[in-house]
Amino acid sequence: MTYTAGRHFLQIPGPSTVPERVMRAIDMPVIDHRGPEFAQLGKDVLAGMKRMFKTQGDVVIFPASGTGAWEAALVNTLSPGDTVLMYESGQFATLWKNLALRLALKPEFIAGDWRHGADPAAIEARLAEDKGHSIKAVCVVHNETSTGCTSRIGEVRKAIDRAKHPALFMVDTISGLGSVDYRHDEWGVDVTVAGSQKGLMLPPGLSFNALSAKALAASQSAKLPRSYWSWDEMLAPNKNGFFPYTPATNLLYGLREALKMLLDEEGLDHVFARHQRHAEAARRAVNAWGLEVLCQNPAEYSGVLTAVLMPAGHSEIAFRKVVLEHFNMSLGSGLGKITDKVFRIGHLGDFNDLTLMATLSGVEMGLELAGVPHKKGGVAAAMAHLTQTRAAKSAKAA
Ligand SMILES: *Cc1c(COP(=O)(O)O)cnc(C)c1O
Repeated sequence: MTYTAGRHFLQIPGPSTVPERVMRAIDMPVIDHRGPEFAQLGKDVLAGMKRMFKTQGDVVIFPASGTGAWEAALVNTLSPGDTVLMYESGQFATLWKNLALRLALKPEFIAGDWRHGADPAAIEARLAEDKGHSIKAVCVVHNETSTGCTSRIGEVRKAIDRAKHPALFMVDTISGLGSVDYRHDEWGVDVTVAGSQKGLMLPPGLSFNALSAKALAASQSAKLPRSYWSWDEMLAPNKNGFFPYTPATNLLYGLREALKMLLDEEGLDHVFARHQRHAEAARRAVNAWGLEVLCQNPAEYSGVLTAVLMPAGHSEIAFRKVVLEHFNMSLGSGLGKITDKVFRIGHLGDFNDLTLMATLSGVEMGLELAGVPHKKGGVAAAMAHLTQTRAAKSAKAA
C-alpha cells in the first residue's frame, strides 16, 4: 500500500462527504437505549426530522438503508394484489417498482425517457381513466439520482386532485431531503421516504418515513405482512423518545448534529439556495465543455447532482477510472440502461464553492487525460458564475 496524500473527493450523489462535526458527534460511547439520556436524543431527532420534512405529522426512523424505508412505505399501507401507479423517471423508480413486484403488488409503470421528471399530465390521465379506483397509490421519485431530474411534486399532487382520485401519494426524496426544497404537508404527500447518507450528511444506515393521517388510517386495514417495518410498533414508544428495538444510537447522535447545522445554523432556505447555485455553476461548466446535461427540462434540473452524457463512442467507466487514478476523486456512474453512457457529478451535502471548483477541475483534467473530446473553459465558466453571484451578494449586503 502507498499513501495517497490529501483527502478523497467523494463526488458521487450519495453517500456524500460527512462533515467533521458530524463524525465527532457520532464518536461517543454507546448508551442505554432504554435510559433517560436516550429519551432526549430520540425526542430531539424526531422533532428535528418533522422540520426537515415540513410536516406536523409523525416521522418514523429505521436503522436501515433507504431501500428499507421504500419497503416500509408499501407494506404499511397496501394489501397483496393492490395496483400502484409508478412513474419511470430513471433507475431508482425502476428499483422501487421491482420491490413492489416482489411484495406481490401490481405496479403499473408509466414509461419515461430518463431525461425528465414524472409527468403530472400522464399521471392525471391514467387516474382519470381509473373510475373504479383500483389504483391504491401513486409513487413518484422526487430527486431521481440516476438522471439529475427533479419531479415537480406539488404539480403531481394537483394532478391527483384534478382527477379526484383517492389514491395514496408516496414520494421518494431519499436524495432530495436536506438539499432541495421539500414540503410533505403542503404538497399533500401521504408517505415520504428519505435516507441519511445524501443531503443529511450522515453515513449510510438510517432511513425515514413521514406519514399523513390518511396513510396512518390506511395502515389500519392494510394486509401486507410486516413486523420490523411496522409503524404501529414504532409510534407507540416514539412518543417517549424510545424505539421498539435497538436503534442506531450513534448515527442518531450524528443526525442531531446535522439537523442543528441544517435547520438552526445555516437554515434550510440557505441550504437550498447554496445547492441551486452550485448546480447552475456545474451546468455552465458542462455547457462550456460542449457536453450535454442529461436532464432536458430546466424546471426540473436537480440541485443535488448533474448527470452528463458522454460523447458517442466514449466510455464513462473508462473516464471515471482515469479521474479516480489521477485525482483520487469518485464520480457517479451511469446506472441501469444508461450504464457507460452517463457520468454524474454530485454537488450535495457539505459542499462549498471550492469543493465545486476542485471537483470540476478534476473533471476537466480527466476529460483531457481520458481523450474525451471537449472544449476548454468549463472550470472558468463555473468560476465566473460563482464570482458574479458572490459579487451580487456583497452588493446586496452593502
Ligand atoms: C440512494 C437512493 C435510493 C436507495 O437508497 P439506499 O440507501 O441505497 O437503499 C433510493 N432512491 C433514491 C432516489 C436514491 O438516491
